[in-house]
Amino acid sequence: MRFNNLRYFFAKIFYAGSYLDSVNDFFNQKILGHTKIIGWWRGRPVYSSFLVPGLSKPLGNLVSQYLVKMMGEENFPGIMNIGVIDKCNCNCNHCSFKGSMDKESSKDLLTLEDFKKIIDQSLDLGATVINFVGGEPLLNKDLPKIIEYINKDKAVSSVFTNGWFLKNKAKELKKAGLMQVNVSLDFVTPKEHDDFRGIRGTFAKVIEGIKECQKVGLLTAISTTVTQEKLKNGEFEKMIFLAKKLKVNEVVVLDMMDSGMYSHMYSKDKPINKKRLYEIVDKYNKRKDFPGIFCYSRLRDVFGCCAGRNYFYVSPFGNIHPCDFTSEIHGNIKKTPLKAIWKKLSIERKGVGCFKGSCGCV
Ligand code: SF4
Ligand code: SF4
Repeated sequence: MRFNNLRYFFAKIFYAGSYLDSVNDFFNQKILGHTKIIGWWRGRPVYSSFLVPGLSKPLGNLVSQYLVKMMGEENFPGIMNIGVIDKCNCNCNHCSFKGSMDKESSKDLLTLEDFKKIIDQSLDLGATVINFVGGEPLLNKDLPKIIEYINKDKAVSSVFTNGWFLKNKAKELKKAGLMQVNVSLDFVTPKEHDDFRGIRGTFAKVIEGIKECQKVGLLTAISTTVTQEKLKNGEFEKMIFLAKKLKVNEVVVLDMMDSGMYSHMYSKDKPINKKRLYEIVDKYNKRKDFPGIFCYSRLRDVFGCCAGRNYFYVSPFGNIHPCDFTSEIHGNIKKTPLKAIWKKLSIERKGVGCFKGSCGCV
């Protein structure tokens, strides 16, 4: 018996690495379509900003939550997207916030104390990835304090920004413990990008913001939208090459959604040739000299709609939505505890299978 214990002790030391590698590789390949380490956060390997780093305490937290909640057949929100402000300096014609969430009846913005309460409640429910969105999140002067408040043993955080204010904020964000900054870039030429964002000089700000983040040690991603036109005319592939040139860690690929300002344009879009899209994504994900590419539509194709199943969105007014692209409200965090809202939302979610009626994206 004693010999067995001793042998197990040494077996753990020799074999734990390969055991962890196969579990890691299986999940990363399934979820991300690659197994590349894109960077490091607090000494732990990062595969994507949408996943907790390998070998980290937040990963331990995620696995424990998963095991406990799954035994009770409960869904839990591993990812929370939270809008920290309703203002933005850009005027993009694909904005899902303007023309949708900003029309909410209550215009009572969340305060720093509200954000702290939401973070506490979401961590209790099992959130391990917190994404800050807007409006333009860097316009909220409390953002570093909100990030700092997150217990880094439980969750990691990322910011989605248009990049305009990034250069001046990067140092503060790093100090607060942020893992990654995802900067929007839609075209590889300044004129087209600036026209799309509705403000001159955005492209230049994005580039200088990314450089500053890299200087202070933040992981960076280009967050880009893909259309059939961009696939066909090579713009999408050029963006991947630009990301490589800029040495960002990841490219986050989102498709245009039938929501907000884009609703009136959506019906005119040609459907994306997914086969071609995934061929391109796979091609560069196989290459170690390119950033990791996270393609949202593939995750949706593999796992279905995550809204209300393992993800939800909080608007800057405290309203809980199934996701950033659905305008339906399931409660307000200032009036009802998150646990109760989530329970109701996830029960409804089981009934509908997907919230496709409101986002039209499936
Ligand atoms: S930068 Fe983002 S929040 Fe601002 S208008 Fe564009 S899409 Fe909307
Ligand atoms: S409702 Fe649509 S956009 Fe939202 S998570 Fe589901 S599939 Fe994605």
